[in-house]
Amino acid sequence: MYTLEYPFLDGLIHPAQLQAALDHAPQGCRIASFSTIAIPLRSETIEQAIAEGDSLAADMNRYATEGASAADISTLLLQSTAQEEWTAFARRLNALSEPVSFPYHQIRSRGKIIHSSSPSPENRFAALHKRNRICLETPPHLEHGLFGCDFGFVAHTQGQPSGHIHLFAGGGGGIYGGSPALAPRPASWLGLYTCEEAIRAAQQLLAINAEHGETENPRKRRLKSLIATRGLDWLGEQLRRAGFTPYCGQPPVFRTSGEWSGDGDTDELLIPAPSGAIADEPGYPLSTALREHLPRLRHRLRLTPQGHLRLHPEDRATARLLHARLHTSSSQTPLAIASVACRGLPICKRARAAASTIRKETAAVLDTLLAESGLAHEPISFRISGCPNGCSRPMFAELALVGRSEGIYDIFAGGNRQGSRTARLLRQALPLHALPGLLSPLLNRYATAKRQQPGLAFGDWIICHMEQEQPPGDA
Ligand code: SF4
Repeated sequence: MYTLEYPFLDGLIHPAQLQAALDHAPQGCRIASFSTIAIPLRSETIEQAIAEGDSLAADMNRYATEGASAADISTLLLQSTAQEEWTAFARRLNALSEPVSFPYHQIRSRGKIIHSSSPSPENRFAALHKRNRICLETPPHLEHGLFGCDFGFVAHTQGQPSGHIHLFAGGGGGIYGGSPALAPRPASWLGLYTCEEAIRAAQQLLAINAEHGETENPRKRRLKSLIATRGLDWLGEQLRRAGFTPYCGQPPVFRTSGEWSGDGDTDELLIPAPSGAIADEPGYPLSTALREHLPRLRHRLRLTPQGHLRLHPEDRATARLLHARLHTSSSQTPLAIASVACRGLPICKRARAAASTIRKETAAVLDTLLAESGLAHEPISFRISGCPNGCSRPMFAELALVGRSEGIYDIFAGGNRQGSRTARLLRQALPLHALPGLLSPLLNRYATAKRQQPGLAFGDWIICHMEQEQPPGDA
């Protein structure tokens, strides 16, 4: 079977592009990443598949945007009146990393690239492995995992990028044990700068890391390792010596975060694509509903970081029609929508355990346990990784499974919905079938606490519970 992988710059899809993809493969399109859709082809030979894929891509190219940016840009900025200016600012952040979006399509068979519109497809993988993770956000909604990024830029307002901007740096996942340089670390707020200064300060941080960090060591090359080793005071002093004024102002405050924020206005614009599939499922005819309603959309749709579709606020009426058609509120839970899994076994060569293939059923088990505890529709952030590399950022989740071996997982808990706190080890080497036995009593106790304190989040409750049961350092 052959598949066309078509990238959308900044994750923005013109309705006509999605219509073309769904007309070509009504039940087979899949969101392959935050910027790419995989479309199955009908051809049976390589030559026919290349001709078919190139022809479909040419159709979609008529609506393509140009100019890749290395940063994950907030949908709020992309949907603001200053969209072009923010996109131009984000492209300037390419100086800090190699681009993560590529203006060419590929045709794959069994995971292997057999054709690419780029002359050197291997560059894509080199870039993906080398890049720094960068986001450009604006309050009140935190969308792109700011605290797990190497660099985060946070705009005060959605107006023009001409004033001051917050700079965060040094976030990243990792593995607990031994060296603090390898542990997961939330990005630190480094202060307010003018937009120009913020870019120069970030470049200076890369220079500081090149001089003082272990950039030759692939496990410790990132800024997070340097900051974990030397500390923020030392880093501030380095920035001062270079002429910057770090830690000025107050950090930004985000009211909501993630895919399912609990904010009705924000959530209403999200059209869930379970497991990234844009297809009809029993009780959830997503492909059919989209094909019916795409012609009504006035703006491009956004692929979200976790593989769903987000509509423009001016398309809210169409979002409501789609939700009514899909019965979203009864067919999709916040936990299922916001849960994330990496590829895991058998897809990833490094995997020790399954991840994406168990995401749906494990999220359903958790939803059942929540309902039994009287917490139906509780939006716990839940992630699974097939190995300690943690590509799904499990260390920032409220509850996470990290694969040790087939069917066996380390259970972490205590991150938060903003992703600004790292999780701690709750249980080592737990067989997957024993997960309900571990979680059921904990969720019952959490439900009791939540009855007395209705706003209490699971991550906040369990981190306190774990500290009472197990003092820091004993994990
Ligand atoms: S976390 Fe491990 S198993 Fe999952 S995609 Fe990354 S390397 Fe593969």
